[in-house]
Amino acid sequence: MKQIKFFIHTYGCQMNVADSEMVAGLLIKSGYILTKDIDNADIIIFNSCTVRQHAEDRVIGRITQEGSRKKTKPDLIIGLIGCVAQRCGEELLQKIDCLDFTIGTAQYRLLPKVIENCLKNNCSTSFLQTNHNENYSDIFPYRKKGVNAFVTIMRGCNNFCSYCIVPYVRGRERSRNHLEILKEIEIAGNRGYKDITLLGQNVNSYKDDNIDFPTLLKMASRIDPIRRLRFVTSHPKDLSEKLIDVMASEEKICEHLHLPLQSGSDKILEKMNRGYTAEKYISIIEKLRNTIPDVALTTDVMVGFPGETEKDFIDTYNLMKKFRFDYAFTFKYSPRDGTASANPRVNREQVDEEIRLERLQKLIALQEKITYEKYREQIGKNVEVYVEKISKKNKNDLSGKTRDNKITVFPGEKNLIGKFIKVKIIDATGWTLKGKKQNI
Ligand code: SAH
Ligand code: SF4
Repeated sequence: MKQIKFFIHTYGCQMNVADSEMVAGLLIKSGYILTKDIDNADIIIFNSCTVRQHAEDRVIGRITQEGSRKKTKPDLIIGLIGCVAQRCGEELLQKIDCLDFTIGTAQYRLLPKVIENCLKNNCSTSFLQTNHNENYSDIFPYRKKGVNAFVTIMRGCNNFCSYCIVPYVRGRERSRNHLEILKEIEIAGNRGYKDITLLGQNVNSYKDDNIDFPTLLKMASRIDPIRRLRFVTSHPKDLSEKLIDVMASEEKICEHLHLPLQSGSDKILEKMNRGYTAEKYISIIEKLRNTIPDVALTTDVMVGFPGETEKDFIDTYNLMKKFRFDYAFTFKYSPRDGTASANPRVNREQVDEEIRLERLQKLIALQEKITYEKYREQIGKNVEVYVEKISKKNKNDLSGKTRDNKITVFPGEKNLIGKFIKVKIIDATGWTLKGKKQNI
């Protein structure tokens, strides 16, 4: 039988990366072969993100572009999965000629069958039914060779932040069974992935019977082959003191927290339905920095939310200046159909595109300066680097991450890949630390 090869291109967040690994695991189990080379593929799958309009436009543009391959390869199958498929898969299937199937976030189990049908009948189909219980717990993901692994601990979201499409396209929040999670972490660790990131839209609300998130983290950190544990994303409204204490007491939990701020204005936070105030956020950061002095902090911030005045923006700007995050993902508000803030009643308060862009640029400039200074503060320190690969920029350098998630390069031999190495930081650019291997 001819070996049928599939290629997956992933857009969006780490959850999508993890979903692509799960889908790859499912297809490999069904006899398909994963290829890294799109030119070789019999099936091209796009795993999509719809969190902002720009992300959606990019994947649609790419599908149309890759569709031209069908002129010389008429049997090629092209499919769309993920959040864009869930949002408007039926419509896209009608609109985009080269698309053979669209499958929503809760229907990935159907993929092998759908592909088999496409191969036989050349028909186009879409499966978009929601299923708020589906957590794919029994499907083992296929991970490419490396040292870091994502482990999904929960799916969906119940928070309904007023700008956010995620609860609509990923369904209600459900937590995976903790024993299955722990087993998956152990298997990953035994296969050489010793830096594990636990994933969920709001990991702080993880709950499996009496196991809450800090308890799960504690249990995970006792798994022998694992050396480092991280998690995203934390929601400030649910981040408990218990979590901070577990982070401080468990050696394997890395000194890094990604904690989306979104806005520094209480008025905007309320309109966003975030469930916390700037004051509450400040108190979390203070507690964190008092308990774990070297903790690295990263965040997500959005500008131009409907109703955001210059004063609201300045509140955000000033908080960013005060907190000095190690890194921040900055976004321009993008209205998503069906969400509360895209409602025409709220939309009357829309901030002009020009102002949104101007505010975004101001925040980016501020954060770039802070990140640069923060990275330079690392010079002279001795850090532990988990070596991932040969650096793309210089083949004599190795590249890896510190415990606090900073990319670090240093001269070294290939045989150090997969090892934990003590490195002295000697230089820093905005995003990368440069170091020298220490002999102890
Ligand atoms: N569950 C996570 C992340 C969700 S999406 C959380 O709660 O933080 C990642 C980031 O995208 C969000 O933190 C937010 O800053 C941004 N985002 C989400 N919806 C957006 C929208 N409609 N416009 C612009 N940015 C958005
Ligand atoms: Fe979206 Fe808010 Fe849920 Fe994050 S917590 S996924 S921003 S609704």
